[in-house]
Amino acid sequence: MYDCTIVGGQIITPSGPVAADVALVEGSIAAIGHGLAGERVIDASGCYLLPGGVDPHVHLQLALGGLVSTDSFASGTIAAACGGTTTIVDFADPQPGQSMADALAARRAEADGQVAVDYGLHMTIPTWHAQSAERLAELPAMVAEGCATFKLYQAYARMELDDISLYRALAGVAKAGGGVVLHSETGPLLDHLRGEAVAADHTGAIWHERTRPARLEATAIHRAAEIAHLTGCPVHIFHVGCAEGVAEIVTARQRGVAISGESCPHYLLLTAEEHLGGPEGNLYICAPPLRAGADQSALWRALADGGLDLISTDHCPWTRREKMQRSFAQVPGGVPGIEGRLSLIHHFGVNGGHISLARWVELCCTAPARLMGLARKGSLLPGYDADVVIFDPKQEQTISADTLHEAADWTPFDGMTVSGWPRTVLLRGKVIVQDGEFVGTIGHGRFVKRTAQG
Ligand code: MN
Repeated sequence: MYDCTIVGGQIITPSGPVAADVALVEGSIAAIGHGLAGERVIDASGCYLLPGGVDPHVHLQLALGGLVSTDSFASGTIAAACGGTTTIVDFADPQPGQSMADALAARRAEADGQVAVDYGLHMTIPTWHAQSAERLAELPAMVAEGCATFKLYQAYARMELDDISLYRALAGVAKAGGGVVLHSETGPLLDHLRGEAVAADHTGAIWHERTRPARLEATAIHRAAEIAHLTGCPVHIFHVGCAEGVAEIVTARQRGVAISGESCPHYLLLTAEEHLGGPEGNLYICAPPLRAGADQSALWRALADGGLDLISTDHCPWTRREKMQRSFAQVPGGVPGIEGRLSLIHHFGVNGGHISLARWVELCCTAPARLMGLARKGSLLPGYDADVVIFDPKQEQTISADTLHEAADWTPFDGMTVSGWPRTVLLRGKVIVQDGEFVGTIGHGRFVKRTAQG
């Protein structure tokens, strides 16, 4: 007799939907099969069963220039849970003079006891650390602490690494047995272009996109791939938004570079035309910027054929008021999205004919777990954590900030009606969402140590 069985649903396996039951024991998946007996039985008739979603790129309560991103660890992970995501990876950001170990401890002190789903942390290597042999000597200890991925920037003054710093950091990470996740844009030149626009009194939101050309996203990826090749360090390109960026990743992979890439729902579903809607255009400012319809087609194709590996959200929410600055150059970057990912990609990706059900699960659950070193996450197989989403493909939902659990008072996906929403979600065997409502406990989520990218 198992603790719990989930019966009557269709498991979305790597080869497609298969009718089978799932049996759980003590927070783990114990068996997949038919006629399994459980003390508790959850009916999943008419629903898909998938592994809990893994979102490897979110920014909860991120401190930035005197502001703090709108979702706390509590509200953000409740929203994640309601959207079917049971593991997130956020960031620890060392300040000048602060060791990585201290930054990790400080960030864990903010998150532990406050999370409703499991979480990991990428360790940021800012400029001042990349240029310090003493700081880079900490890398093996961070890998041992389960922070096996390091966030590097090729953009943003104060954070961005020039090619020499990038080389030194990647060499250090490779030696420590870790991997790198990368914000790839040619930052110094973008800063100059932005300064020119501001000097010419171009303040409208569309200038955000116009001063961050796609080619300068692609050439940054190109340089990073060359440095990854020189150092043998695995590199994952965050938030790819343009066709040119995809092409660089595909070319590098073909010549043997250990490179992967992700996109996000906002790049797939929105374009830079959103910036043209008057003051509201500021809401959609994020970096890299939203692009054009042709880029969306290229991104979907790459997600289908393996050119890109996964879908994250880069959830970085600010309130409407915080986004309403006088000039595009003053708007805090980022959009919310942690809750809608599975449903948006199911509706627009699977129902829209771009990807299969199996690829949907691969992109949102399995690949992020594998690439981010989450050994017990991302698959519905015996021995894995019993993180399960019972997904009702027929349930319609019109996305609105009023009904989402995200804290921001707006959503970039407002008014989109999707078919398919999580009905029930389990985290390590415990039901945390039932009939779309959060019934879990803040603090049930825990820090998960991650190994190097798989
Ligand atoms: Mn980000």
